[in-house]
Amino acid sequence: MNILLLGGGGREHALAWKLAQSRLLAGAGDRLYAAPGNPGIADHAELVPLDPADHAAVSAFCEERRIGLVVIGPEAPLVDGLADTLRAAGVAVFGPSASAARLEGSKGFTKDLCARAGIPTAGYVRTASLAEAMAALDRFVAPYVLKADGLAAGKGVIIADDRADAEAALADMFAAEGAQVVIEEFLEGEEASFFALTDGASVLAFGSAQDHKRVGDGDTGPNTGGMGAYSPARVLTPLLEGEVIERIIAPTVRAMADAGASYCGVLFAGLMLTREGPMLIEYNCRFGDPECQVLMMRLEDDLGELLLACAENRLATAPAVRMHPGTALTVVMAADGYPGTPHKGGPIDLSSVAGEGVKVFHAGTATGDGGLVASGGRVLNVTATGTSVTEAKDRAYAAVDAVDAPTLFYRRDIGWREVAREAP
Ligand code: ATP
Repeated sequence: MNILLLGGGGREHALAWKLAQSRLLAGAGDRLYAAPGNPGIADHAELVPLDPADHAAVSAFCEERRIGLVVIGPEAPLVDGLADTLRAAGVAVFGPSASAARLEGSKGFTKDLCARAGIPTAGYVRTASLAEAMAALDRFVAPYVLKADGLAAGKGVIIADDRADAEAALADMFAAEGAQVVIEEFLEGEEASFFALTDGASVLAFGSAQDHKRVGDGDTGPNTGGMGAYSPARVLTPLLEGEVIERIIAPTVRAMADAGASYCGVLFAGLMLTREGPMLIEYNCRFGDPECQVLMMRLEDDLGELLLACAENRLATAPAVRMHPGTALTVVMAADGYPGTPHKGGPIDLSSVAGEGVKVFHAGTATGDGGLVASGGRVLNVTATGTSVTEAKDRAYAAVDAVDAPTLFYRRDIGWREVAREAP
């Protein structure tokens, strides 16, 4: 069949690489298309100049090329309802509807759903009134966790160390007209991510990961989209994973179906592993970037068949997903200046990169006159597998050292938690 993959980052390069190996594409005329793609994705797919925001154009392309499966990588087209448009046109889509993508798009929606379904998460107050928010601070203790919702979204999450800072932050958040804010209890513990495929009824575990959000070694400096990740996160033991599915993922899937917003796609749960057990911090409605890259390196099953089974509501008959028991680790190489304004156009030479279990996924790259150049903030995801996290890390950094790209930088300590846990 023909498959269309939407997106153009490192996540989509990993998806394209894995989809290209699918039996779904084994027929003589079968094609994998990607839009907009990137130079790495072009090794596996035919790039097409389609704008995922133009739903009519994507729909027309699917009809014209007889696309049997659309895989939507990033969140924006999902929140924007592209999956709804395509499903209405009879196309099989991997990715949730706009109403199901509210699990990522609206923190208030998710908190209310958790409260109704008894899903473990931080206690909270959701309000659209500054006065109510100020008064609600009485019900919490420092540090105060403040999250913008609705129209004020984009100001993100603020963790205020004392009451005065919390009040100032609230005043700032409510300066936006129509603002809604969620105030949350502060959770203590280690963070981990868990992924599950669901077709709205059945759930398949898809593995765990941990990422590094801060730009600098030792988890210092400003937040980024992620400077590296590894999978699995062994702190999330099989016992805890079972608990996450039973107490968090399955009740969410049921509650969404009950609310008439059946969820089809990957549910990415950001968790805090507290002393009382795993608690939900947030949901994302797509694979993480760079978590996807390490999950794809470990996946031993046919990705195309799995995603199609999900899109066609056939997960009930699918066997458990098989993941390699070893570790995959990815190091993000970013352009100087990131997460501020990145320096674009720096040359990249990957010709010396080699090594067992090594794969370089492209994120922000472009083809310039003289070859490959940096074109975004996060540029390359240098990824490796190993029987242990230490082996995966050593292989990944050996490959990083072989990349010739003078305008890129990276963290040297990706995986430090897991490496420390593994140390004899
Ligand atoms: P992102 O999608 O980039 O992870 P976001 O804006 O969707 O961020 P959250 O994931 O809800 O926001 O929170 C961002 C980070 O803030 C979390 O990864 C966690 O480190 C911290 N955080 C959020 N909620 C809490 C909480 N209740 N207790 C302690 N820390 C929290």
